[in-house]
Amino acid sequence: MPSPKRIVILGSTGSIGTQTLDVIEHLSATNSGHRFEVVGLAAGSASDALLAQVGRTGARFVATAKPGEVDGVEHRFVGDDAAEQLVHAAHADGGVDLVVGAIVGSAGIGATLAAVDLGIDVALANKETLVAAGELVVAHANRSGARLLPIDSEHSAIWQCVQGQTSQRPPMRLPDSVERMILTASGGALRGLSAEEVYNATPKQALAHPNWSMGPKVTVDCASLMNKGLELIEAHWLFGIGADRLGVLVHPSSTVHSFVEFADGSVIAQMGAPDMKAPIQYALTYPDRPAGCATRLDLGKLTNLEFYEPDAKAFPAIGLAYEVIRRGGTSGAIFNAANEEAVGAFLAPENADGGVVPFGLISDLVAGAMRDVEVSAVTDLSCIHAAGELARAHVREGLSARA
Ligand code: NAD
Ligand code: MG
Repeated sequence: MPSPKRIVILGSTGSIGTQTLDVIEHLSATNSGHRFEVVGLAAGSASDALLAQVGRTGARFVATAKPGEVDGVEHRFVGDDAAEQLVHAAHADGGVDLVVGAIVGSAGIGATLAAVDLGIDVALANKETLVAAGELVVAHANRSGARLLPIDSEHSAIWQCVQGQTSQRPPMRLPDSVERMILTASGGALRGLSAEEVYNATPKQALAHPNWSMGPKVTVDCASLMNKGLELIEAHWLFGIGADRLGVLVHPSSTVHSFVEFADGSVIAQMGAPDMKAPIQYALTYPDRPAGCATRLDLGKLTNLEFYEPDAKAFPAIGLAYEVIRRGGTSGAIFNAANEEAVGAFLAPENADGGVVPFGLISDLVAGAMRDVEVSAVTDLSCIHAAGELARAHVREGLSARA
């Protein structure tokens, strides 16, 4: 039996983090040949959920952005860069085989980049890291040899469609025979509404996702199709593919997770129930496929395998994302930070009825930041943070001008 893989889970109390722990427990309980030692856990706060996870896993390294008591751990880190410190400390103390990047938003950039710099493989859910800092993350991974193993279901699907054909060195360069990749989108909670109804949707409406159960930020991103925009940019960095070879189709049942179209006209799709445990497990056990714990598709009951083009007028996010891929530089950092700031305002308690920040304003504010904030070349992390701060300030100005 090989020794257990030493794993660190960043964002362990969230939707992806908790499902990652479920998958790890499943793999250990089923003689899958894959065992893990959870060395470290990072979360936003020292919540009861985190304390329970520490007890359940015996993690010796614990990081939280906010202060709070966590009894009985040997190495405790607190503050904005706590997750990054944890990665360094756990690596120095016996090494880390895999970091799961499941912090939400740009808060995950520093720790992901730290892992990549140390040459540690990263199973990545935190798409915002690649959107804002993809150029750096990919360059650093190339230098250190760290692999980026996608957890996001669409990217996992593409990775599975070309299994065994990607280059060993990161990023996962695709074979020349790949002509296009098409990401599927559920369409989110507001699918089928008129452009005006979408614009005026409330947080409650935007958070009612029909297929996936996820954290609030990514659920709102799904409703605006900003999530698909972020994923186009994520695919661009992960697979080294240009905007002209990337497409999106709305697919309401979320059973086809993406398509790859080849030069000979063949199209390969990856399917499965909408259950993140499947792509999480694939990233943890790649290239093996041990018995899984995700919900199974009942192929005999599949109906409504529908696909259609997204409504570009009601959902401007897709067009903005293509612009980011074409412009490069700090445009991804601007796009991502503006969206985070706008979604934060949309989800703020004082906007519970949607009256202050209507849903459509999120895309307007992101478009405004992309129009007005100057794009520069990416040289290091500080220029990514600086561009992000300018974008956030621009969004805040836009919001206060309305108040
Ligand atoms: P979530 O809101 O449920 O969880 C976020 C986690 O990050 C929590 O553990 C939280 O405590 C932690 N966190 C927040 N700020 C932090 C900080 N400053 N330092 C350390 N930890 C911090 O989010 P989620 O739905 O699990 O999504 C996580 C990431 O995965 C996002 O980037 C999302 O886009 C991506 N993703 C999620 C899904 C899904 O099904 N949930 C699918 C694909 C991709
Ligand atoms: Mg996804």
